[in-house]
Amino acid sequence: MRANTFVSPGKTRVERVPDPKILNDQDAIVRITSTAICGSDLHLYNGFIPTVEPGDIFGHEFMGEVVEVGKGTRKVKKGDRVVVAFPIACGSCYQCGRQMYSCCENSNPNAWIAEKLMGHSPAGVFGYSHMMGGFAGGQAEYARVPFADVGTIKVPDGMTDEQVLFLSDIFPTGYMGAEMCDIKPGDVIAVWGCGPVGLFAMASAYLLGAERVIGIDRVEARLRVAREKVKAETINYEEHDVYRTLMEMTGGRGPDSVIDAVGMEAHGSTAMFLVDRVKQGLMLENDRPNVLRDAIMCCRSGGTVSVVGVYSGLIDKFPMGSVMNRSLRIMTGQCHVQRYMKPLLERIRKGEIDPTFLITHRANLDDAPAMYRTFRDKQDECIKVVLKP
Ligand code: NAD
Ligand code: ZN
Ligand code: ZN
Repeated sequence: MRANTFVSPGKTRVERVPDPKILNDQDAIVRITSTAICGSDLHLYNGFIPTVEPGDIFGHEFMGEVVEVGKGTRKVKKGDRVVVAFPIACGSCYQCGRQMYSCCENSNPNAWIAEKLMGHSPAGVFGYSHMMGGFAGGQAEYARVPFADVGTIKVPDGMTDEQVLFLSDIFPTGYMGAEMCDIKPGDVIAVWGCGPVGLFAMASAYLLGAERVIGIDRVEARLRVAREKVKAETINYEEHDVYRTLMEMTGGRGPDSVIDAVGMEAHGSTAMFLVDRVKQGLMLENDRPNVLRDAIMCCRSGGTVSVVGVYSGLIDKFPMGSVMNRSLRIMTGQCHVQRYMKPLLERIRKGEIDPTFLITHRANLDDAPAMYRTFRDKQDECIKVVLKP
C-alpha cells in the first residue's frame, strides 16, 4: 500500500510499504477513505518529538471501511464504515473504566520511553512515534486498528466522510477544551489559537452556553473564519496587546476561562505586558512569555485555564505563582476521544454544528508532502487538509 512517511524534519514522502495485518484478536483492518493532517502532526514534522524515525507512517485522524476483523471483535464487522479515535484504548483497564481513554494502561507497548519523560505512560496513539507506541498511522491506504470495538464508531447511512471525520480528534478535543472550562451562563471564554482545534473549542464553548467567545491568532484568514463561521470576537496578537485588550473587553477582570489551543511551538509573545515586566527585571529572561503563561496571566482570578495545546515535558514554562495566588484551576489532557464520539455524532446529526466549515484543502494521499508544507506555513489560507487515499 501507499503511506505518507517521515523522512527528516520538514520532509515526508509517500512510499510503498507492506499492508497491515491482523496481529491480535481485537484488531480490525480499515481501508482508509479520508484522513486529515493535524497540528499535532506538525510537532513530529518539525522535529520536536525525538522518538520519530525515518519510515514512520504519520496520521491519527482517519476513517474508512472495515475490511477484516480479528476473531475477538464483538461490535465491529467487515463492511462497517467507521471513524477511528486517535488514542488507542483497551476499554477494560483502570483508566478506561473511568473513561480516561488517552491514559489507557494497556495500549502503549513502549510505555518505558514515555515514563522516563512523564512519570507514567499515556495511551498509544496512531502515527505518533515510538514514545506513543510506534503504531503505524492513518495517512495511508490501510491501517491496523487495535481494540477496534473500543476505538471506532459506526457512521450512520447518509452522513458524508467530511461530516464525521473530525470525530477522530479535533472536534472532541476542542469540545473537551471547552467542557473543562465548566462554562456558566454569561461566561466569556478566550481561546489562544484559531487553528482547527481552537475553532472547534470556540464553537463548542457556544454549544456549552458561553455568552462571548474571543479568539486570538495572527493569521488573518483564520481570524476571519473565527468571526464569520463561529461568530467569535477576535484579537490579532501582532496588532494588539492581548492582555490589555482582554482586560478592556472584560471590564478589567479577565475572561472567566481561557483555552490554550496552540501548544509548545507558540509563535512569539502575545502580551507586551509581560515583555515590559521582563524589561523591568521582574521576570527572568528565560521565563519569556508563551501562550500558556499569557493565558494564565489573563484569566480572571478563580477562573479555569484549559490546556489542549500539546506540551512535551521538556521545554514547558509554568507560572505557578499566578496560579496559586489567584486560585486558578488548571485542566488539561490528551482528548479522551472515545468518551465524546457518540454524543458529538448526535450533535452533528441534529444539525447543531457542521464540522466541515474549516476544510480548506482536499487532496490525494500522494500530495501529502506538499500539503504538509502548505498547512505548516498557513499558505493559501489553509486551515484543514483532508486527504483521500
Ligand atoms: P495549528 O498549528 O493549525 O494551529 C495553531 C494556531 O495557533 C495557528 O493558527 C497559529 O497561528 C496560532 N498561534 C501560534 N502562536 C500563537 C500565539 N503566540 N498566540 C496565539 N495564537 C498562536 O494546530 P491545531 O491543529 O489547531 O492544533 C492546535 C494544538 O492542539 C496543537 O498543539 C496540537 O498538537 C494540539 N492538539 C491537542 C490534542 C489533544 O488531545 N489535547 C488533540 C489535537 C491537537
Ligand atoms: Zn490530531
Ligand atoms: Zn485501557
